[in-house]
Amino acid sequence: MFGEMSALAIRTGSVNLGQGFPDTDGPDVVRDAAIRAIQEGRGNQYPPAHGVPELRRAIADHQQRFYAITIDPGTDVVVTTGASEAIAAALLALVEQGDEVLMFAPWFDLYAAAISLAGASRVSVPLTPGTFRPDVAALRAAVTPRTRLLLLNSPHNPTGSVYTREELTAIADLVIEKDLWVISDEAYEHLVFTGSVHIPFCTIPGMAERTVTIGSAGKSLSLTGWKVGWATGPADLIAAVRVPRQHLSFVSGGPFQWAVAEGLALPDSYWAGFRDQLQLQRDMLCDGLTALGFPVTVAQGTYFATTDVRPLGYDDGWAFCRELPTRAGVVAIPHEVFHDDPDAGKPFVRWAFCKRPEVLEEALMRLRRAFG
Ligand SMILES: *Cc1c(COP(=O)(O)O)cnc(C)c1O
Repeated sequence: MFGEMSALAIRTGSVNLGQGFPDTDGPDVVRDAAIRAIQEGRGNQYPPAHGVPELRRAIADHQQRFYAITIDPGTDVVVTTGASEAIAAALLALVEQGDEVLMFAPWFDLYAAAISLAGASRVSVPLTPGTFRPDVAALRAAVTPRTRLLLLNSPHNPTGSVYTREELTAIADLVIEKDLWVISDEAYEHLVFTGSVHIPFCTIPGMAERTVTIGSAGKSLSLTGWKVGWATGPADLIAAVRVPRQHLSFVSGGPFQWAVAEGLALPDSYWAGFRDQLQLQRDMLCDGLTALGFPVTVAQGTYFATTDVRPLGYDDGWAFCRELPTRAGVVAIPHEVFHDDPDAGKPFVRWAFCKRPEVLEEALMRLRRAFG
């Protein structure tokens, strides 16, 4: 579907708000650090299997600095080929043939594929339609004797929801009651806007020893092409994750690992500026869509806003998104592709605001022409 929409975007000369990556590259100092690493011969050959020690140290320092989480860079971290590989390796490590993996829908499309690869089956529980809050009673009702693991994602792609401490605590109670493992995909940990706060799931009491936490340099440093990510957690879980991970890509991103180590140590001004700029873009897109009569669920975090297409005379996000390139010259993504149940996400459409203001302005101008 992403391929189909991207091809359609090119064919129609559309502004592509479908793809979830920024159109400005991450900080100069981090890119320069990668060039320096290559020139100085750091990471041009296979780096250590679990990540260069400097990066593992930087990840541990980052967890301490932002969340007061203490981890041992020797045993509690593994560097991966993006958050994607970390998720796949954690699933391969923690679930077995016949196990069930519980997750809220809509979900990031990689989850379904990685769960299948691990031989497990997925059980999806819809977030409350429209507000996209986690429904813990529904989650509880979906647990069976075969449920092994909860795959959690906050800040949440595609809805932009950031779960509150109360929501996370209610989820944690269920995790303890049903004795589950947790993979917490926190790829958007730094993209949380005014009024919300990112709470790592492993900081909820009782969760540290059950949770593998996933991070992404691609998302945190706007360098998605580098594919550097990590998993952190208790030594026994990370030891388990390291085994399949080592047999997936063995190692990757040699010089980039050195540069990401510098990136994670950037001063507070970088992190605040990054968030503020994206919040500005979020407001621009959400205000523009609202003015057009698109009911918007304003994202608390991530790159994405969601609209309901029904007031525009459509009842199907797919049909809307297929027509949008020719009708308006803009590409968006239907929520349907993030669900098993085709009816579940039907009226909702995802728009990426991780694009330069002039690109968003152009998209809004086109939408005003078509719908205004
Ligand atoms: C982008 C994304 C990932 C993958 O991150 P990479 O570091 O590019 O592999 C994982 N989870 C979510 C929710 C994402 O949006």
